[in-house]
Amino acid sequence: VNAEIIAVGSEMLTPSKLDTNSLFLTARLNELGVEVQAKSIVGDDPHLLTAAIRIALDRSEIVILSGGLGPTMDDLTREAASAATSRPLEFHGEILRLIEARFRRMNRTPTENNRKQAEILEGAEILVNPNGTAPGQWIEASGRVLMLLPGPPREIEPMFVDQCLPRLRALLPPVVIRTLFWRITGLGESQVDALVAPVYSRYSNPVTTILASLGDIQLHLRAHAATAAEADALLDPVAREMEPLLGDHLYSKEGLSLEEVIAQRLVERGETLAVAESVTGGMVSTRLTAVPGASRWFAGSMTAYTEGAKVRPLGVDPEILQLHSAVSGPVAEQMATRARVLLDADWGIATTGFAGPEGGDPDSPVGTVFLASSHPSRETQALKVRFLGDRERVRQLSTQAALDLLRRQLA
Ligand code: ATP
Repeated sequence: VNAEIIAVGSEMLTPSKLDTNSLFLTARLNELGVEVQAKSIVGDDPHLLTAAIRIALDRSEIVILSGGLGPTMDDLTREAASAATSRPLEFHGEILRLIEARFRRMNRTPTENNRKQAEILEGAEILVNPNGTAPGQWIEASGRVLMLLPGPPREIEPMFVDQCLPRLRALLPPVVIRTLFWRITGLGESQVDALVAPVYSRYSNPVTTILASLGDIQLHLRAHAATAAEADALLDPVAREMEPLLGDHLYSKEGLSLEEVIAQRLVERGETLAVAESVTGGMVSTRLTAVPGASRWFAGSMTAYTEGAKVRPLGVDPEILQLHSAVSGPVAEQMATRARVLLDADWGIATTGFAGPEGGDPDSPVGTVFLASSHPSRETQALKVRFLGDRERVRQLSTQAALDLLRRQLA
């Protein structure tokens, strides 16, 4: 079943106001197995709005309008819906009395305009609005549903949950939604999409969504079916085909963050971790210690920012520092090993680099970062990476890459 949402109101066509109602509605609809196939924002223009409603009813089984039910001249949703459906508006005295009672409770008197809000499309069911004046309307005809709902979130949200969802559930076949939450790092959004699109584009159920944030991609696979087993059976072949394409960039199939994956692995292995940070200035440790129960596996960290701090107390060999400079592979390796030894941990990880905007050298321009992990049973070898972007971006990507380096070592 497909739905379409129309947000009504010219203010949402300005730079200062967003249509958030459609996000709320989409989340609730998806839970019923209904996909939103189109949404639009239409300004306060009767012709545009009538046309938009006609088009929506033509192609979507469920059409939801939010906003434009107020009492003023530019609240046009009722009139436009009436024109688009060829259903006349009927005045309901009992609604006006409810509106008048509400105004009395607020010690105000309704204006002549409020009469408009008591006009209901012929054949519509009235959706009461305990949080505002304008009632909503539910129109069901020839297998389609049209809803006229108020604009303010505090009015539309309870109205939708309490009055529209039960009606929709009664109309729709029972549905179970199963979602896979995958997390990926080390690839850009377009790279992930290029890898998996040949698979997911062949399916409309499950639906695939790719969400990207700095250095981290979430891939959601959502299937709906009559039972959980059927939904899983829909997910299974798609997941099995996609998984090898992502290789070891896919770091969690349960929606866990990198630091949560690291925490799990360290607890499983009964090992502990120490951190030495230069370019990331504590960001790696901040993410790690955000995981509840970190004291079981996080020994501690040191932000060794200056050369002096790297030598003492951390204990990097001053000769190595002189020979290779503070931003170098050998120094990153020593930082990781020294953090591990100093804090008596099983693992050590370290970051050192040029976040910019100033600094860098010909071999290692701004954005160059060395990462290292150290463990007594493994060779310590630094990883050199180069990130583009401003200081904050370089620091965040370095943090992510340091955590990913350790995650790979723990795999
Ligand atoms: P009212 O009964 O309060 O007059 P209405 O149905 O006429 O409600 P609008 O006048 O269109 O609603 O909008 C009222 C307020 O609701 C807007 O100022 C805005 O803050 C909020 N609003 C409207 N539409 C949306 C939307 N799609 N997303 C988020 N907020 C919205």
